[in-house]
Amino acid sequence: MSTIPDLHTHSTASDGTLTPTELVSRAAAAGVKMLALTDHDTVAGIAEAQAAAAPLSLVLVPGVEVSVTWGGRTVHVVGLDLDPDCAALRDGLAGLQEHRVWRAEEIARRLDKAGYTGALEGARRHAAGALIGRTHFARFLAEQGAAADVRSVFKRFLVSGKPGHVQGEWTTLEQAVGWIRAAGGIAVVAHPARYNFTRTKLRRLLGELKECGGRGLEVVSGSHSRDDYFTFARHATELGLLGSAGSDYHGPEQPWIELGRLPALPDGCTPIWSLPGFGTGARAAAHKSAA
Ligand code: AMP
Ligand code: MN
Ligand code: MN
Ligand code: MN
Repeated sequence: MSTIPDLHTHSTASDGTLTPTELVSRAAAAGVKMLALTDHDTVAGIAEAQAAAAPLSLVLVPGVEVSVTWGGRTVHVVGLDLDPDCAALRDGLAGLQEHRVWRAEEIARRLDKAGYTGALEGARRHAAGALIGRTHFARFLAEQGAAADVRSVFKRFLVSGKPGHVQGEWTTLEQAVGWIRAAGGIAVVAHPARYNFTRTKLRRLLGELKECGGRGLEVVSGSHSRDDYFTFARHATELGLLGSAGSDYHGPEQPWIELGRLPALPDGCTPIWSLPGFGTGARAAAHKSAA
């Protein structure tokens, strides 16, 4: 059983299907000793996750996955070990949450034109008052039989060039890293293999991350192959970035990703959790006393 930290997961506060409490219980049962909750553009689930972790032998690392527009594409930046009450972080995320509401309306308008009515209400029902995302539209459309499953819905409706696709305008890399640092956290580029960037473009992204004060790269990810682990471990080592690991767990409906199964980082890659005090709350506390 893997006991390496899992520093990228989702709950019902964004597009996961387990509540923060259920997520923490499942992680603990799977032998996870350190878990970060990193919902999309919100820290709304953190307090519940912390309360659920308190009586268990599991360290809950407060985190977030920030949507960024960089190089004309959406890139995800995970913030780890941060103070979820930081006003600068919360204000920044509030802007992204507003953008999500606008984008949801726009997605629904386009789906309506394509003959799929009621998508906004349907997606809202799946989001259940929490932050809305494409996954909620996908669950609604799958339920309607528009495609066989959530993955096929994405392919047919929600990605670039498809009827329900809306290219969101998220925040900048600099701002995302700025909010995370303001909250005492560490900024990490999430699942780099997912962007299909050329080596040059990836290096440019990572260079800019460092210039803004970001420090990490997700080397082990639920969406990475074994080859990817080694490729991105090399990038991290060469650029002096810390390696992170996260399943990107969204719930039991995606059985190909499970909690507690992450492999170790490749040799030579310095883990982000080796930073002194990582996960102890010391970073957030230092931020609070400085503020
Ligand atoms: P959003 O931030 O609302 O644009 O949604 C991004 C989320 O959609 C990701 O975090 C995944 O959970 C999900 N997602 C993106 N692409 C796919 C895909 N091809 N298949 C299934 N889920 C996807
Ligand atoms: Mn997601
Ligand atoms: Mn992501
Ligand atoms: Mn994620």
